[in-house]
Amino acid sequence: MSKLTDLYREINACQRCLLGRSRTKAVPGEGPENPAILFIGEAPGFHEDQQGRPFVGAAGHFLEQLLASISLTRRDVYIGNVIKCRPPGNRDPFPAEVEACKPFLDQQIALLKPKLVVTLGRYSMARFFAEASISRIHGRAKRVGEVLVLPLYHPAAALHQPRYRQDIETDFLKIPDLLKEATAPEETSPAEGPGEAQQLSLF
Ligand code: URA
Repeated sequence: MSKLTDLYREINACQRCLLGRSRTKAVPGEGPENPAILFIGEAPGFHEDQQGRPFVGAAGHFLEQLLASISLTRRDVYIGNVIKCRPPGNRDPFPAEVEACKPFLDQQIALLKPKLVVTLGRYSMARFFAEASISRIHGRAKRVGEVLVLPLYHPAAALHQPRYRQDIETDFLKIPDLLKEATAPEETSPAEGPGEAQQLSLF
């Protein structure tokens, strides 16, 4: 059994906050165990709560279209959420719920070791850029420790407000180049890297 499967088991049994009582199913996340890209949404909605899978409603359908625009499918990427259980009526998560669920997301990121994290919406953006405003930083990737993080609008916001739709579609098209940048080998300084290799090859 993988550590990720152990984590899913813990999430499915979690009662760290009151959402554990009202949920139908927890939604731990899904995708390959060593994904290049990790998408992080906000919280499960009605359909996700019923099925125990992330992004299976209207926002999920739009996310699949966005993935198709860069020749990917949902099977190519990992999809998770900040909150693993549905807040009743799809209200915004409370700070205490985000806090209770944080260790799960932290462990997930540590186990998955993605190269590129794409945050969807304000709540997942805040995991990396606490004080930032999404209207200012969407579409601008920044390195946070080991990982490159690209903040985007939430697909559901884009579905309801056309002005966000153009932005998320344009921002999404940056993903292939960012992925190349994120997976490129570290640059070495001329003093140590290729220069030394060249010197060695002279002997
Ligand atoms: N919105 C989210 O943020 N996550 C889901 O899983 C579905 C809709």
